[in-house]
Amino acid sequence: MKEEYIKAGKIASKVREKSKKLLKEGASIQAIVKKVESWIHENKGGIAFPVNISLNDYAAHDTASGKDNRKLNRGDVVKVDIGVHVNGFIADTAYTVEIRTKKHKKMLEANKEALQKVLKMVEPGVKLCKIGALVEKEAEKNGFKPIKNLSGHSLEQWNLHAGLTIPNYDNGDKTVIKDDTAVAIEPFFTNGFGEVVNAREKKIFMLEKRLPVRLPKVRDILKYIEENYKTFPFSKAWLEKEFGRGWVNISLPILIKSGCLKSFPALKEKKEGIVSQFEHTIVFFNGKKVITTL
Ligand code: MN
Ligand code: MN
Repeated sequence: MKEEYIKAGKIASKVREKSKKLLKEGASIQAIVKKVESWIHENKGGIAFPVNISLNDYAAHDTASGKDNRKLNRGDVVKVDIGVHVNGFIADTAYTVEIRTKKHKKMLEANKEALQKVLKMVEPGVKLCKIGALVEKEAEKNGFKPIKNLSGHSLEQWNLHAGLTIPNYDNGDKTVIKDDTAVAIEPFFTNGFGEVVNAREKKIFMLEKRLPVRLPKVRDILKYIEENYKTFPFSKAWLEKEFGRGWVNISLPILIKSGCLKSFPALKEKKEGIVSQFEHTIVFFNGKKVITTL
């Protein structure tokens, strides 16, 4: 199990570093997403979730849709979140850059520093609320807020959000990190309210339950999802490529309504504050600690 986590981490980190040169003014978001996803495959990794590119007050769960013509603009604060798996063992890593301006440099640096501090202090036996308290303190001493309703999480094979919720503020949770656990640590900072709400956009979905479906074409699409994406989130754009936009637009609402799929709406800051995020994955194994995505 440990080797696969490490392999996934190496691929994720390589692809993440390579992705940085794509983040230029005028670059197409769809082209960036496609390229980063193709690099994961070229490096013999599986995609654990669609490459998330979330801009400015959007914190997470945004990606390119089929007819996306958005481009990066000067001043955009861009979060790139990448998930790689090897045989279901996941590496989850993210970073933020600001395109050609330095208006939010202080927030980005403080956010990155907060992640570094958590990576140092987190060990088996550490209480989850202590991690949250550290993130909160780092945000506040620099004049920012952590996003309270976004959090890190534990990882298990084929399960991106396994049991643990790793808070970005002191939520009083005295649960301790245990050995033989993989966790993704992801502080989010904002100059806004400190919470996210659902946005209108829904581009990421996940299998929830295998239930009988009547329409043959919809059944085919569900079967394809099960076989290809298994228990991992997938992008509407991937399905469109396979089945065409028409059938996908008919099928997704049916599959959601019937309880087969769940959707992950894009998440944006409640008061439209700018949001930053940095994330690494840590694996604790036989008393050792490995940051797999460094
Ligand atoms: Mn992530
Ligand atoms: Mn994560």
